[in-house]
Amino acid sequence: MTARLLDGRAIAAAIRESVLPDVHAFTARAGRPPGLGIVLVGEDPSSEIYVRNKVRAGTESGLWVDLQRLPADASLDALLALVSRLNASDAHDGILVQSPLPSAMGKSAAQQVFDAIDPAKDVDGFHPVNVGRLVQGRAHLMPCTPSGVIEMLTRNHIPIGGTRAVVIGRSEIVGKPMAMLLLQRDATVTICHSKTPDLPAVAASADILVSAIGRPGFVTPAFVKPGATVIDVGISTVTDASIASRLFAEGSARLADFTRRGSVIVGDVHPSVADVAGALSPVPGGVGPLTIAMLLKNTVTAAQARLPV
Ligand code: NAD
Repeated sequence: MTARLLDGRAIAAAIRESVLPDVHAFTARAGRPPGLGIVLVGEDPSSEIYVRNKVRAGTESGLWVDLQRLPADASLDALLALVSRLNASDAHDGILVQSPLPSAMGKSAAQQVFDAIDPAKDVDGFHPVNVGRLVQGRAHLMPCTPSGVIEMLTRNHIPIGGTRAVVIGRSEIVGKPMAMLLLQRDATVTICHSKTPDLPAVAASADILVSAIGRPGFVTPAFVKPGATVIDVGISTVTDASIASRLFAEGSARLADFTRRGSVIVGDVHPSVADVAGALSPVPGGVGPLTIAMLLKNTVTAAQARLPV
């Protein structure tokens, strides 16, 4: 079997297209475009790329994107003061603080920052109020990556209700909200993590398997029921030739790519899973573009909710 590839770029383009009329209508009514404030602390190379893509996508869709940078040695107080300023701003409908924050800010910094964002502007859906609403099935703003996965499934007509779903990874930003969204659509959901016994056997019970752990090629064919849908959320940069040759066949285009550049972006799912799965989301070009499309959608949703009735 060779899995059907789930093209995240095409779905993201369709979602971005679908928000345009709302952006135009908002801009006409409010006399300004929906505004998204993005805060980037420091110069983490991956964050720089993610933020650049978010700024570009937002601007292309007619949003006003305000990138606010703080130096890597900024204090947590300075970051909280900036969030407070964006909370009070009329022009900012959405606020996003890019993770990870510099480790010098302390372990609880990210949570303190998410707690400080006005829930009405929390386009990442990480504020406890929005997490609570998500758990209760009445979320207004939902985390972008898991809601992008749901779009990927539904727009590909992959049934969720009545299926068995397994989510590998239990982070606040992907694993837990992913499990909630699948549960709300009537899947029977199991969450796996680093202490789960016999993980491959649990994973192989899934009709829908979502992996979000950040370990290159961790999910092998032994984890996959034949014909299952496999969604690869993981994104890792591989620079080690021995890992690249474990993932990609001799003579393959991806291995040639690695040899040329000295690095390659990979997911959690080993390429050989394509021989077993029924459908598979690639990395790159799978969940990543959807995350950005859902961020734009959330920003427009937040902006519309702030308009007076
Ligand atoms: P995280 O580090 O916060 O969480 C990782 C989770 O994986 C933890 O719950 C941990 O228990 C679990 N885990 C780690 N090793 C494991 C193992 N050997 N077996 C089972 N479980 C294990 O990461 P995160 O923020 O949830 O991100 C996960 C991955 O998804 C990363 O690669 C990240 O880059 C990627 N990501 C992609 C997007 C996207 O847009 N595609 C968005 C967010 C995160």
